[in-house]
Amino acid sequence: MITVNHLQKKYDTLTVLRDVSTTINKGDVISIIGPSGTGKSTFLRCLNLLDPPTSGTIEIDGENILSPKADVPRLRRKMGMVFQSFNLFEHLSVMDNLTIGQIKLLKRSKPEAEKRAIELLKMVGLAEKAHVYPSQLSGGQKQRVAIARCLSVEPEIILFDEPTSALDPTMVSEVLGVIRDLAAKGMTMAIVTHEMSFARDVSTRIFYMDEGIIYEDGTPEEIFTHPKKEKTRFFINRIKCFEYKIANRDYDLYELNSLMYAFFAKHFFSKEASNKLVLIVEELLQIMPIDGGVDIVLEFSEKEKSVQGILTQHQCSKSIINHQGVDKLSLSIIKNMSSSITEEIGEGQTQIRFTFVPQ
Ligand code: ADP
Ligand code: MG
Repeated sequence: MITVNHLQKKYDTLTVLRDVSTTINKGDVISIIGPSGTGKSTFLRCLNLLDPPTSGTIEIDGENILSPKADVPRLRRKMGMVFQSFNLFEHLSVMDNLTIGQIKLLKRSKPEAEKRAIELLKMVGLAEKAHVYPSQLSGGQKQRVAIARCLSVEPEIILFDEPTSALDPTMVSEVLGVIRDLAAKGMTMAIVTHEMSFARDVSTRIFYMDEGIIYEDGTPEEIFTHPKKEKTRFFINRIKCFEYKIANRDYDLYELNSLMYAFFAKHFFSKEASNKLVLIVEELLQIMPIDGGVDIVLEFSEKEKSVQGILTQHQCSKSIINHQGVDKLSLSIIKNMSSSITEEIGEGQTQIRFTFVPQ
């Protein structure tokens, strides 16, 4: 459906895309992942010509869209784009946002366009919002309207650029749910995302972008479980892992907690599971000597949907759990909430490991 060959994009002296070549087939659901600043957004913008590539070719259904003879508006209509920041027409009602493209681009009559708009709003769960304005909607609702508007002009592929990054964490799943349904219906999509569990579940292919190229391309299993190349491996390991270093007892508890909540939200842990995990860490910090510093590492296992926690304190090498004066209440909370807890006493440090599996 889309063939990209040796695509290059430079901004003055900065080469963002060095040499991107790939083929996107009908029905592909491609998640594009990678560190920020590696050209993921630039790649999507080049694909639908929001930004002209410096060199290379892009063919859609066999037509070169970069040829001077190309009917760019018609070709571009085949590709819908959904942005991080919704980009709805704020001065138009939801209904008008959804009919304007159909009337102008597809030459549909107004009643025809309205009928389709209602169908699409039903699909994204917002039929009752047809007559309100975007300012009356939550972020998650706005993004669902933006997806419906994109669909209203019948694109062959939808390009999503971090569709959930601007949303409050509580609204991420309603938008991902809509994208999931589209994938199930066979819609061709390319999605730049940081939602790794989602990317793994929903995609047929993953592109890992780095160094101005599609550095590694594979199935979710290949990329997330057996990445072949060095940088992919490094990136995948890092996103599965939460790390925090406490230097002394004056550490910033609020920052630590909110970073932990953000990490658990990214891996789709429920509020309840997140609360339990934060409580385990808090209680562990109650019973551990903190003054010499404590390193917290929480590692998410995609396969078991569990978290392995490792807390290392650098002060003394003796048992914390079996210590006489240990706070019995804290310890019983930790033991109740985690599915296993072990201790390793080393040279000048003690390490506590626990496993947590949400119900
Ligand atoms: P990503 O989406 O992977 O985070 P981007 O595609 O947004 O990365 O950006 C890649 C690089 O290109 C960044 O270094 C960014 O600063 C630069 N860049 C993006 N757009 C422009 C532009 N319009 N002008 C100049 N530099 C840009
Ligand atoms: Mg980007």
